[in-house]
Amino acid sequence: MSPPALPNLRIHIIGAGMGGMGTALSCAKKGFTDIHVWEAAPALGEVGAGINIPPNLARVLDNWGVLQYCNGEGVAMTKANVLDCATDEILTSVSYDTYMEQEYGYPFVTVHRAALQRALIKGAEDSGVVKLHLGNFITDYDFDNTKFKVKQGESGEPEWVQADVLICADGVKSKAREAMMARKGVQDDVEDTGQAAYRIMVRRSAINEDPELVPFFTGTESYRWIGEKRHIIAYPIENGDLFNMSTTQPDRHFVQADTWTAVGSKDEMLKTFHDFCPRVQKLLNLVPEGEVLEWKLRIHEPIAQWVDNNTALVGDASHPTLPHIAQGAAQAVEDAAALGVVLARITKKEDVHKALEVYQAIRKPRTDWAVRTASANSKGLHTQDKDSRNAAFATASDGSNPDKMISRETHDTLFMYDVQKETENAFDELFAKAI
Ligand SMILES: Cc1cc2nc3c(=O)[nH]c(=O)nc-3n(C[C@H](O)[C@H](O)[C@H](O)COP(=O)(O)OP(=O)(O)OC[C@H]3O[C@@H](n4cnc5c(N)ncnc54)[C@H](O)[C@@H]3O)c2cc1C
Repeated sequence: MSPPALPNLRIHIIGAGMGGMGTALSCAKKGFTDIHVWEAAPALGEVGAGINIPPNLARVLDNWGVLQYCNGEGVAMTKANVLDCATDEILTSVSYDTYMEQEYGYPFVTVHRAALQRALIKGAEDSGVVKLHLGNFITDYDFDNTKFKVKQGESGEPEWVQADVLICADGVKSKAREAMMARKGVQDDVEDTGQAAYRIMVRRSAINEDPELVPFFTGTESYRWIGEKRHIIAYPIENGDLFNMSTTQPDRHFVQADTWTAVGSKDEMLKTFHDFCPRVQKLLNLVPEGEVLEWKLRIHEPIAQWVDNNTALVGDASHPTLPHIAQGAAQAVEDAAALGVVLARITKKEDVHKALEVYQAIRKPRTDWAVRTASANSKGLHTQDKDSRNAAFATASDGSNPDKMISRETHDTLFMYDVQKETENAFDELFAKAI
């Protein structure tokens, strides 16, 4: 690979999540040498829970040489089941082992979010050109001059930092998005879904080898128990040491936080799912007190512009996506991969803005589709009308499934895609049109 024409471009990235660390690694792999990541958290530990590595994400990680760092402790799913929440009856099962790796080149793997983040950080560290600044909070942006203000720790005096390219990967509650939209006089169109989610996990050591629960840990299957207005999706992670469960339910407590770290009440959680089948009840009861994380689910209408001068939004900052098709991390990393490609293709600094416009033009149709598909999926799963729901699952074909997350049509759209190739191929034409 030849180095980029502008290896010393000052690339500054806000946020060390999947989009941010992904962008750093993507640019490092392209041969850029002046890359900084600014992260508010003082340390990046075992925060979060399960996350998916579908083939479209695996392809990028593999290309960057970091897939083995997270897949080592991941679990390759061989089957996805949808079950009735009360009867535990299987409504549909899709066997991933008959086509996933064969068709898309990679299995569908589940990991702890921390494993994916660690893999990206390891790749970035190994490159020797990425500087990670932890405990640094960005307080202000100057999009006209590609500058941002950083406050170090609690007591630090905020200071302006100059960049050539500024990538804001500051997550679902992005202040950069807010500031960018405010400049354009646009309001963030957020629809409260009226839903909240719990993210919970049970450790294998807690189940006392209960024969009814052991298969959840030793198996390689995912489970989605569905009922009116609620569902629970669950799968093993960390080599089967943890069983991860993510729920969706009416937001009865009016959770204010969507920070991933707000602690909810275990009692309330048990009440919410009291009518789910006994196997699920057993699991929920084993969740340690104090480890029930709860947050609000909001739909953000796709925004028109992710780019302002030489600044671009990435990942959840640009296209927050509900978890119902499990593509949050994958789409953030695809963004990151596309950014590396477009920045490596320009030959003068004055073209940074045009490169970012190309990035948006390539990424937006795909992420808009993902946002809308995820949002529509929960509506179908939570219907009151059990008879027609069951009939739809009973007649699900190999190609189409009422649960869009496990539907082959969705898989073909999402998993065949090679973001780096697509971006390379489309670059010249889109660059010629960019202004
Ligand atoms: C703590 C945490 C736990 C999560 N747990 C899960 C999970 O268990 N399962 C799952 O599917 N998804 C989880 N997510 C969300 C998931 O990581 C994202 O949906 C997806 O990976 C897209 O990544 P992103 O880089 O766009 O955003 P994120 O991964 O959310 O990363 C955004 C980063 O920006 C930092 N940041 C925000 N504002 C500032 C600022 N002003 N200055 C500096 N830094 C800032 C945040 O601290 C964060 O590290 C979690 C996110 C976070 C932050």
